[in-house]
Amino acid sequence: MDTAEIRRRFVAHFERDGHTPVPSASLLLDDPNLLFVNAGMVPFKPYFLGQETPPYDRATSVQKCVRTPDIEDVGKTTRHGTFFEMCGNFSFGDYFKEHAIELAWDLVTKPQSEGGWGFDEAKLYPSVYVDDPEAVALWRKITGLPDDRIARLGKSENYWSMGVPGPGGPCSEILIDRGPAYGADGDFSAEDRYLEFWNLVFMQDELSAVRSKEDFDISGSLPKKNIDTGMGLERVAFMTQGVENMYEIDVMFPVIQMAEQLTGRRYGADHEDDVRFRVIADHVRSSMMLIGDGVTPGNEARGYVLRRLLRRAVRSIRLLGYEDPALPELFPVSRDKMGETYTDLHTDWERISRVAYAEEETFRKTLQAGTQIFDLAALDVKKSGRTTLSGDQAFALHDTYGFPIDLTLEMASEAGLAVDEAGFRSLMAEQRERAKADARSKRGQHADTGVYRTVLDEHGPTEWLAYETLETESN
Ligand code: ATP
Ligand code: MG
Ligand code: MG
Ligand code: MG
Repeated sequence: MDTAEIRRRFVAHFERDGHTPVPSASLLLDDPNLLFVNAGMVPFKPYFLGQETPPYDRATSVQKCVRTPDIEDVGKTTRHGTFFEMCGNFSFGDYFKEHAIELAWDLVTKPQSEGGWGFDEAKLYPSVYVDDPEAVALWRKITGLPDDRIARLGKSENYWSMGVPGPGGPCSEILIDRGPAYGADGDFSAEDRYLEFWNLVFMQDELSAVRSKEDFDISGSLPKKNIDTGMGLERVAFMTQGVENMYEIDVMFPVIQMAEQLTGRRYGADHEDDVRFRVIADHVRSSMMLIGDGVTPGNEARGYVLRRLLRRAVRSIRLLGYEDPALPELFPVSRDKMGETYTDLHTDWERISRVAYAEEETFRKTLQAGTQIFDLAALDVKKSGRTTLSGDQAFALHDTYGFPIDLTLEMASEAGLAVDEAGFRSLMAEQRERAKADARSKRGQHADTGVYRTVLDEHGPTEWLAYETLETESN
């Protein structure tokens, strides 16, 4: 089943049940807490928060999402894209748990010949929040599954809140068992084995204090209970298309094939190369979608995320051996696939391609300048009879010329040199500390402004560290 068909069936299933189909919002929806829309419910937040009255009781959508914090997982897990599409159904004070479970289970298990996904029930595992006996009873009643097929997960997995006082509630997920090649029997922390593809949020509680994801007070029940679900389109696609991971589905794999053609390397021959192929497929698509929605490369916030995605794509294909401008070859392939759904990609192509290709040119110049400096440094090391590029040198290349450490490592090894990587890392750590102190003092000076606030709100204080790594290690 191709991705377009999965999308159509999802929407049709919920339309038949009285849900109003709502088009995807832009990735750049104006939300003070988010860099990008990262879930299907985001455009509906004012309804869930009771700030606006929804024009419908039930809605369904296929929402474009970007999750920057997932960037390090791309290509390494089977299931994380920086860009993906979330299919969702929403109830605003209308139906609740029972019907939400019925609707999801019906679509997932109905044979493909009858419009469903046709997943084998023997491989499906619902998960519930440990303190949600009502959900356990409903799953058992609706699916007929025995108790031991229902996984009980804790707060970090299966309790949803917005991280602030307001609505919250337990979740149920549907996991599909992909077999022992991906992890041990019954080990639900092996998430590429027990693949989560649908999350059902039962918004029922009123939270008075939220100290962390796992530490909050429930002060009462919401007067109107809501349903918010999210199903990963790419995850269902890779399961129904019989491929290994989301990067191999119909709308993504052609980019990998083009990268194979350009580089002359084969996907599937070498693990490290494969990760690069997958990073290329993901980053080309996500950067294209971001530019489509109006982001331009820059040094902070949204622009920085885009810059990093584009540069990582370019770097990855260079590491596969292709040194000419690559985006003019790769972007059109992704456009032709994604443009079937997002027709603006075609009408806006002149602008989108210009922005992307210009960034690649800029990066190529950076690489060129850095390469000369690298050659001088290498010569210097050799002349003095040493065999190791110092941490200082690697750091200067990174800091002044934007030269990623893995490139320095690779070029050093080609030149028969080692790199004092530990020295480099400790200089990076020092710089990070400085940046953090700086951000802290800036935040103190003018609270509520700037990138730090936005990023902190989106990712939370721990993810912020990941974002910093993202900013300072432009690999
Ligand atoms: P995971 O645990 O696999 O990281 P999640 O719990 O973070 O997923 P949710 O926030 O529950 O995901 O989002 C709802 C659904 O969206 C998921 O069940 C999954 O199908 C899909 N999804 C989430 N993150 C991604 C991603 N980075 N790439 C592709 N699909 C995703
Ligand atoms: Mg996740
Ligand atoms: Mg999860
Ligand atoms: Mg989840």
